[in-house]
Amino acid sequence: MTTPNRRQVLGTMLTLFGAAAVSGCASSGQRTAGAGGVPIPSADDDLSFPPPNGNKGQQLLDQWNARRNASVAPPAGVLPRHAWARQGPVMRLANPIGRITRITVHHDGMSPFSSSSQADAANRLESIRRAHVGQGWADIGYHFAIDPSGRVWEGRPLELQGAHVKDYNDQNLGILVLGNFMEMRPTSQALSTLGGFVASQMRRFNVPVSRVYTHQELRPTACPGVHLQRSMLDMRTRTGPLAMA
Ligand SMILES: [Zn+2]
Repeated sequence: MTTPNRRQVLGTMLTLFGAAAVSGCASSGQRTAGAGGVPIPSADDDLSFPPPNGNKGQQLLDQWNARRNASVAPPAGVLPRHAWARQGPVMRLANPIGRITRITVHHDGMSPFSSSSQADAANRLESIRRAHVGQGWADIGYHFAIDPSGRVWEGRPLELQGAHVKDYNDQNLGILVLGNFMEMRPTSQALSTLGGFVASQMRRFNVPVSRVYTHQELRPTACPGVHLQRSMLDMRTRTGPLAMA
């Protein structure tokens, strides 16, 4: 048995990246030259992503995840992107995120969404991904998403720069809460998860509460909606979960 080189391994893993599984509020910035040791293939790599490959695909994806720098691997308990995404990122369009120094919270701004179904959340994520890729972006714009039942889903791989706040995507971790919070309040489960998850990422990447934003705090937009905006203000007050992180 020969040992595949890194390029072959990466190609195989990317092929399997999009295993098992509108628009959103996000906005892309321009592609910029990235730094850091992120294994992004060149434009001549195989950029096709065939459908899921069952257990073997999961096994290989797990191996790839194990090779990833622990600092960018998805945390335990996060539903992996192969649970919903039908295709992997278009790596030739992606840039490294660099060192994460800020976090931004969004809503998807689509129809109100309160389903507790995992399949419904997966479908909604996939519709957002397709819309974002259709705009010429590498992948879904956000790194994580939280559904109305409080599940956390992996979005764009964390080593890749997101496309969620125009001109502010570098070093910026994007977190989406599924739903439209101009029109409804976030569920208590989503808010509880959001507080705990954002706090965990603040600790993980050493991001202070002063660098935790909502989309509208960086750009003129209604995102994340008046109700989630209010919740985010509460969470960052002196006694809120994010100030205590
Ligand atoms: Zn947004």
